[in-house]
Amino acid sequence: MLGLMQDRPLLISQIIDFAAAAYPEVEIVSRTVEGPIHRYGYRDAHKRAKKLAEALQGLGIKLGDRVGTIAWNSYRHFELYFGISGIGAVLHTLNPRLAPEHVAYIANHAEDQIIFVDLNLLPIVEGVWENLKTVKHVVVMTDRAHMPASSKIPKLLCYEELIADKPGTLKWPVFDERTASSLCYTSGTTGNPKGVLYSHRSTVIHSMMMCSGPVLAMTPDTTILPVVPMFHANAWGLVYAGPICGAKLVFPGFKLDGASIYELLDKEQVTLSAGVPTVWLALLDYCAQNKLKMSSVKRSLIGGSAVPIAMIERFWKEHQVEVAQGWGMTEMSPLGTLTRFNRGERDLPDTERFAITAKQGRPVFGVEMKIVDDAGQDLPLDGSVSGNMVVRGPWIVSGYMKGEGKSQFGADDWFQTGDVCKIESDGSVVITDRSKDVIKSGGEWISSIDLENAAMGCPGVAEAAVIGVPHPKWDERPLLIVVRRPEAEVSKADVLKFLDGKIAKWWMPDDVQFIDAIPHGATGKILKTALRKQFEGYKLPAA
Ligand code: ADP
Repeated sequence: MLGLMQDRPLLISQIIDFAAAAYPEVEIVSRTVEGPIHRYGYRDAHKRAKKLAEALQGLGIKLGDRVGTIAWNSYRHFELYFGISGIGAVLHTLNPRLAPEHVAYIANHAEDQIIFVDLNLLPIVEGVWENLKTVKHVVVMTDRAHMPASSKIPKLLCYEELIADKPGTLKWPVFDERTASSLCYTSGTTGNPKGVLYSHRSTVIHSMMMCSGPVLAMTPDTTILPVVPMFHANAWGLVYAGPICGAKLVFPGFKLDGASIYELLDKEQVTLSAGVPTVWLALLDYCAQNKLKMSSVKRSLIGGSAVPIAMIERFWKEHQVEVAQGWGMTEMSPLGTLTRFNRGERDLPDTERFAITAKQGRPVFGVEMKIVDDAGQDLPLDGSVSGNMVVRGPWIVSGYMKGEGKSQFGADDWFQTGDVCKIESDGSVVITDRSKDVIKSGGEWISSIDLENAAMGCPGVAEAAVIGVPHPKWDERPLLIVVRRPEAEVSKADVLKFLDGKIAKWWMPDDVQFIDAIPHGATGKILKTALRKQFEGYKLPAA
């Protein structure tokens, strides 16, 4: 017997319609590429998203067409999120930090028809222009006064001119909720970038879960600053969750240094921030050097890479900001797990709470998760063993764009994440490593994440990365690579002494090497492939 409830499709356009009606004056504040701060309410954003949708239709964009963006977090990018998906076209967010050949590969693979680009990112499109096969128009996201005088791209269009004379009265079309809404490519740290094609249904369900109490518990009193870029997994869904909850949105544009982020946090009285660990490291240091305190922030959502326990402690002790660690993937929209204190745990002493936050969190409703061995057999979920993590759920990828990466998709919808983890009996997930980064020593696994996390607590260490290097007897042994804090004189002996007693004896790195900077990929993660290359041929002292 089927239920007798209405089968109305879940569509992204409903989010902006609702926000405009329910929270017309709630602000979206943006630091613009042109310079000044821009602010308006959801009502204005809604109108402009519709004007944009009308302009897109005028340029011939139809249901299913891909429209690319290369842009920072800002109000115009926000309008594109709703204007493009609202008419059933596919918002394709490209990462401006990717190598040019990847940008061209992705735009061609997606068959983008139009590319919208921020003024200071235009050189990226100009650099690959000759190699773009499907792009018919390039729109610069600015007004006429700021348009470049010349460009190698013929007939550049201007965003403000494009929408100026449109009425903004369009009625959003209604279509199947499984229609593709947006497209984001994985960053290619594991081979060619692969396209993850979200649907309206998956996006709306994921966004509602982001809003929920055990996840972000946002309300109209929340002011959120997503440092996580809108070109990375839809800014973790915050661009949709914010308007659903009536939260004020603060977009930082392209200035992501400690001083610029601090200024916005303070001036706009931000209560919730979200981003990858590297951004917060810079902010914490800036605050410490200038004796500043984050006065309004209550919670910081950190994910994308493991959060060092030293960072969790600093946020709390220096700013009374609670860290929530999230684990997820582009392929999961991206929410998988998040720090969640179960009943009574919030009252635990600091050190015990920090230990809970240092794990990757517990799965949210909607994400099923288990670990399997290399033969695909289920492993126990009692924290006793690590295994390959597989997941399934309504906002998890069922296949990559154009059928790539088939081997990652198993029976019964189980998607192979490529991560190795333990799942404890209370549901807590502890990521050991990406399967290709785990260090295999004497038949056992050493977690590079655990070692990095421990080393980051050592005074004088700014950043740490661990890679496995060949060893004649043990197969692989860990090499610890460290960037010193400015003016710190920390030595190999200091670091090893600090680690003594904090990690298993046989995990002790065989060597510590100091370098000036650790390479990061386009989404802020440590680029282990580049580090391995840098240390190719390196021989451990004892090997
Ligand atoms: P990519 O495009 O590089 O795959 P994603 O952001 O999708 O970019 O990366 C997802 C991966 O990032 C996960 O599979 C996991 O390895 C890593 N990751 C994300 N969050 C965490 C976390 N909190 N702790 C440890 N690793 C994390």
